[in-house]
Amino acid sequence: MEDCIFCKIIAGQIPCSRVYEDEKVLAFLDINPISEGHTLVIPKAHAENLWEIHEEDLTAVHMASKKIIRAMKQVLNPEGVACLQLNGRGVNQVVMHYHLHLIPRTKGSEPLPVSSWELKPGNQEAIARLAEKIAANLG
Ligand code: 5GP
Ligand code: ZN
Repeated sequence: MEDCIFCKIIAGQIPCSRVYEDEKVLAFLDINPISEGHTLVIPKAHAENLWEIHEEDLTAVHMASKKIIRAMKQVLNPEGVACLQLNGRGVNQVVMHYHLHLIPRTKGSEPLPVSSWELKPGNQEAIARLAEKIAANLG
C-alpha cells in the first residue's frame, strides 16, 4: 500500500534489520526498541489491524512469532517476552499496518511498561454482563 512505511520495508524501499521472513511474514527489529531484541512481526499483505487481517496471515504471524522467540531464547536468554499488538489510534497504534511486538526482558533489566500495570478489581456484575453482551455478538 502506498504511503505505508511497513509496505515500503516489505518492498525493500526502506532498510530493516531482518530476523525472519517467509512467504506471508516479515520480522525485523524495532528502530525504537523498548528493550534489547524488540521485534516486529508483520504480514506481507497490508492490513491495518486485527479487524482487517485475513485469518491465514494472522496465523502465519503468530506461528512465526513462536519460531522467533525460540531463537531469542538462545541469543538473549530472556526472563520473559511480552507480545503486544495495538489496534487503532485510540490505543496509540502509530503504524497502521498490523504488527505484533515481541518485547523480551532480560535478567536485571528494567520492568517492561507493557507488563507492569496495577491490578484493581473491577465491578464483577458489570464484567459478567459485558461478557454476555460480547459473546452474544460473535459472528
Ligand atoms: P505501534 O504502531 O504499535 O505504536 O508501533 C509502531 C512501531 O513501529 C514503533 O515501535 C516504532 O518504533 C516502529 N517503527 C516505526 N517506523 C519504523 C521503521 O521505519 N523501521 C522499524 N524497524 N521500526 C519502525
Ligand atoms: Zn502496509
